[in-house]
Amino acid sequence: MNEMILLKLGEMVLKGLNRRTFEDKLHANLHRRLHPYGQFRVYTRQSTTYVEPKDDTCDVRGAFEAIRHVFGIVGVSLARPCEKDKDAILACAKEFLDDKLRAARTFKVETKRADKSFPMNSIQTSQYVGGELHEAYDNLEVDVHNPELTVHVEIRDYAAYVHADAEPGAGGLPVGVNGRAVSLLSGGIDSPVSSYMIAKRGVALEMVHFFSYPYTSPEAKEKVLDLARQLTAYCGHMVVHVVPFTKIQEELRRSCPEELFTIVMRRFMMRISREIAKRCGAKALVTGECLGQVASQTMEALACTGAVVPDLPVLRPCIGMDKEEIVQISRRIGTYDTSILPYEDCCTVFTPRHPRLRPTLSEVEYAEQDLDIQALVDEAIEGIERVQV
Ligand code: ATP
Ligand code: MG
Repeated sequence: MNEMILLKLGEMVLKGLNRRTFEDKLHANLHRRLHPYGQFRVYTRQSTTYVEPKDDTCDVRGAFEAIRHVFGIVGVSLARPCEKDKDAILACAKEFLDDKLRAARTFKVETKRADKSFPMNSIQTSQYVGGELHEAYDNLEVDVHNPELTVHVEIRDYAAYVHADAEPGAGGLPVGVNGRAVSLLSGGIDSPVSSYMIAKRGVALEMVHFFSYPYTSPEAKEKVLDLARQLTAYCGHMVVHVVPFTKIQEELRRSCPEELFTIVMRRFMMRISREIAKRCGAKALVTGECLGQVASQTMEALACTGAVVPDLPVLRPCIGMDKEEIVQISRRIGTYDTSILPYEDCCTVFTPRHPRLRPTLSEVEYAEQDLDIQALVDEAIEGIERVQV
């Protein structure tokens, strides 16, 4: 008999109204994420979701690790099955949780009995197993209110299961319950973090990356695709729209006052992203911008970039964070080491020496006057390479 995985559902449990949709989405996401590890049965009873391997070929440990990245789940525990017999349950607890039983000072046993034909009720089972464990481990005292370790016993239809307290899950809401957004992904530290944060709120993402070959190298593009691949552990499979950006940058360098170059360029990024959003049904854009971090991230500059996408919210989850806080998240989600690889981004090509810190919309629009904006946007869209990660 194979181990099974128990999941504690997060916030979605509170959303009474949409609960069904949330659960369905979570189950679909789980099935997709579990696929590489074998065939599993996934079902929810009360606020617990059960992930049961269908046969002995399943890689349950691999599945356990994968599930820890799935949004919508606050706790994950691995449960060991045994025969439905009080001494088999006790032996299973001693073997499976031995390390934890030795390390804890206080404990209790909590039993859930789905199979009412089991001869002992929940309280009797807990008392029996708890009493025997107390005997067997000198270090353990019983504390029913605030124990360091809770030994959980579940008596289900085909077997009994033993597990310890849950390990933390990824939290958030199942990806997809809050619609879709287009996330602007550079090779930096911030935008993988902002993408992760919005996906965590239940949003499916499509990525867009602006690529300025030959000013930026194929390695720089590969780095961004790697970041996107790393994010799939949380976000699921995604499309990365790689937009050719060289022509626009060269055009701007020719026609645009140097100190407004970056802001005008960023407005093009937003226009193109909006067009992609329209085509894929996305209802928002996501960026890794952070207030005051660079010249293009002052309030005035953000007003100028936001002005070209009046019909879409621009979500900027890093806006109020310190760099150190963003770095911490990027380390935790595993993107940091890739982000710091030293390849240039298109934003660092033709950087003005003295960028305007407080641009006004009218001067920016004036700087764009001679450009055929629509033609440039259309041409960039035409040239998109769609990469599935
Ligand atoms: P990051 O660490 O994410 O690169 P940053 O602090 O370097 O951010 P900028 O280079 O000004 O800031 O970019 C701000 C945001 O604009 C990025 O977080 C990202 O969302 C978007 N962006 C910048 N360059 C690109 C690019 N080449 N392709 C797609 N989006 C980009
Ligand atoms: Mg950057």
